[in-house]
Amino acid sequence: MSGSGKFFVGGNWKCNGTGDSISKLVSDLNSAILESDVDVVVAPPFVYIDQVKNSLSDRIEIAAQNCWTGKGGAFTGEISVEQLKDLGCKWVVLGHSERRHIIGEDDQFIGKKAAYALSEGLGVIACIGELLEEREAGKTFDVCFQQLKAFADAVPSWDKVVIAYEPVWAIGTGKVATPEQAQEVHVAVRDWLNKNVSADVSSKTRIIYGGSVNGGNCAELAKQEDIDGFLVGGASLKGPEFATIINSVT
Ligand code: PGA
Repeated sequence: MSGSGKFFVGGNWKCNGTGDSISKLVSDLNSAILESDVDVVVAPPFVYIDQVKNSLSDRIEIAAQNCWTGKGGAFTGEISVEQLKDLGCKWVVLGHSERRHIIGEDDQFIGKKAAYALSEGLGVIACIGELLEEREAGKTFDVCFQQLKAFADAVPSWDKVVIAYEPVWAIGTGKVATPEQAQEVHVAVRDWLNKNVSADVSSKTRIIYGGSVNGGNCAELAKQEDIDGFLVGGASLKGPEFATIINSVT
C-alpha cells in the first residue's frame, strides 16, 4: 500500500446476473466478515442498482459501470450522473477496456465523463491498460501514460480518483499479471503523476490492479508496495471469494 487512504477493492459485476442471483450475492456479502480497513465498492448492472442499494449493507458503497458526459436530456440509452446520485451511487467506473475496445469510447470522451462525474461529487475509478500486442511491442508505458494524460487533462481534482491498472490481456482471461509486472506499471504510473501532476497527487492517489484477480492470487499481489487494492470482475460474482480478496490487505 502506497497511496493514502484505505486499501480499495471494487467488484465490477459487468453485464451479469438476474434479480435472483444478485439477491444471493448480496446476501453472501452481507454475511461475510470484511476487514474494516478496506474501502469496498460494487458496481452492479444499472437496472439492479436500486435493488442492491436497498438490500446491501451500508458497509459497501455502490458504483455505476458508466455514466453520461453531462446533464441528462435527449440521450437515448444513457444514464446521467444526477440519476446515479439519486440512486445512491458514490462512484463510477470509467475507461474500462470493454468500453474502450468493444464499445469504442476514446480518451477524450472518457475524460469528459470523468470531469463531469467529479464535478458532481462522484468518485471515479479511472481504468487504463494496454493490449497484449501493445505489451509485446514494448508500448505498455506509452499506452498507459496516454490514457492517464487524457484523465489528467480533464479532471478538476484528484481527491476522488482511484486509478485502476488493468492490462487488457489479463481481463477475464485467467492470465493474471505477475506481481512484478503489476508493480512495475504501478510505480511508473506514480512516477508519471509526480512529473506531470504533482508530488502530492502522486503520493496520495490509490492505484489498484485489475485482471483475473482471484482468491488464490490476491495475497501475493497485495504484498506489492504500490498495489493499493483491486478491481475484480469474475471473482466478484462469488461472495465468499470476493470477501477473501477484500481481506487480502496486508
Ligand atoms: P476480471 O475482470 O477480474 O474478470 O479479469 C476485471 C475487470 O474487468 O475489471
